[in-house]
Order: sequence, then structure tokens, then C-alpha cells
Amino acid sequence: MKFSIGVDCEGVACAVGSPGASLNESRNLSFATKQATREADAAARGLFDAGAEQVIVWDSHNGSLNLDYDELDERCDIAIGVDFETRWPGVDESFDGVCFIGYHAMDNTVNGVMAHTFSSAAYQYMKVNEREVGEMAIDAAVAGQMGIPVIFVASDDKGITEACEFFPGVETVTTKQGMGWNAAVSKHPARALKEIYEGAKRSASQIQQISPFSFDNPIDLEIRYKRIEAAQAASRGSSRGNRTDPYTVKFHMNSITEYF
Ligand SMILES: [Zn+2]
Repeated sequence: MKFSIGVDCEGVACAVGSPGASLNESRNLSFATKQATREADAAARGLFDAGAEQVIVWDSHNGSLNLDYDELDERCDIAIGVDFETRWPGVDESFDGVCFIGYHAMDNTVNGVMAHTFSSAAYQYMKVNEREVGEMAIDAAVAGQMGIPVIFVASDDKGITEACEFFPGVETVTTKQGMGWNAAVSKHPARALKEIYEGAKRSASQIQQISPFSFDNPIDLEIRYKRIEAAQAASRGSSRGNRTDPYTVKFHMNSITEYF
């Protein structure tokens, strides 16, 4: 069995941002990246103990250089850096499942901790085929195009609600209760690790029971920007989206991997 773990940093235990800014400007950043490392390690150990031969940990938050690689289980392979050709670097059709660690709820989520979709500064929301989507659904669809299901998610309670709506039957761990953009009551980080180890291990034994997530192709991707110039640029650029209102651009494409 082969797996990949996508690792973001907002959704881990004991992480919040700072007022008016993202996690990257928060005094909490160094703890968040340390905890993201430990949560990824716990998930990887669970997968290996369930029989995995390969686990790729994909460091995917801002600039993709966040984790303490020395602290990951040494059986892991690690995808770092930017400008890969596709999301899920190193993953192909031979993989059996993907996991989300530290992911967060989408834009437009009340009380989701640092809820956003790719950029809280750039976008108000993204929709695929009229349905609002976040990073989890988009990354799941990219994996789904290779026939790979999402088997395990750890996030705040709002992220877990979202995951269960998109990926019925997925194994989950709630790391914290979101009470605002920068407000949470978190599980103790060590307790979250134990649950993540057990949840990931269990999920590897259930891969037959969960279907890959996909969108119906071709897709309409609608992006509502925060700034009017960004919408203007997107409608005039090489991708030539269709401007449906001053802030909103719709792109028609064969599949999600044309954009992401
Ligand atoms: Zn992030």
C-alpha cells in the first residue's frame, strides 16, 4: 500500500492566526509548524503500522518549507518546494489513499479557524459546478482523477464537517473547536497525536470502502475575488475567464487539473 499525506498548518491542534493577518504573521507560527510535523508523523506511523510500503509527506502550506523534516519517521518520503507540475507530487495511479493533516475549512465558513480557500487575501470563494469548494475538495478531486480516495482527515470541527459532506465515510480526527477566525478551544496537542495515529491506522484498513472524490467533467470553476483588479486580470489573461460580475470570473475547463 502507498499513501500520501497533504500537510497544511492552519488546522492542527493549538494553532490560530493573529488579528488582521494569516498564520504566517502569527506568533503561533513556530508552534503550528512543529505540531504539523508531529501530526504528519503520527499519521505516517499509523499508515506504516497498517502495512504501508510508502508514505509521501507533502509539505503544502505557504512556500512548502514548513516542517521539521528530521522529526518525521524516517520511513517517510517528503515532497517540498513549489512549482511542481501537479498537486500531490510523486503520487500516481498506483497509490491507495491520501490523507489531509492541518487542512482547514473553506472560505465563507462561520467560526472556521483561519477558514479560507488558497488565499484569504485574494479570494472570497471558489465554486465548482455551482458548489462552493475549499482546498480539501480541490485536492481530493486531483487525487480522485488518479482513482485515489481521501481516507483520513484531521482538522478543526468546521473542517471535519466539510470533509464529511464531501467524502462520506472518511475517517476523521477533530483537533480543535473553531470559535472564530483566530479563536479555538483545542485538544491538547499530544492527545491529538494519539487520535491521529489510531485514526490513520484504521483508515488504511478501510480503503476498499471509500470511493475517490470527483467533479463531473467538464467543469465550471467560478472564482469571486476580493479585489476588482484581480477579477479584471483573470478575465483578460491567457486563461480568459468569463467575467460574470465585477468581482467574479468563471472558467470552463475539461477538468480540475487544468487550473490546479
Ligand atoms: Zn495553509
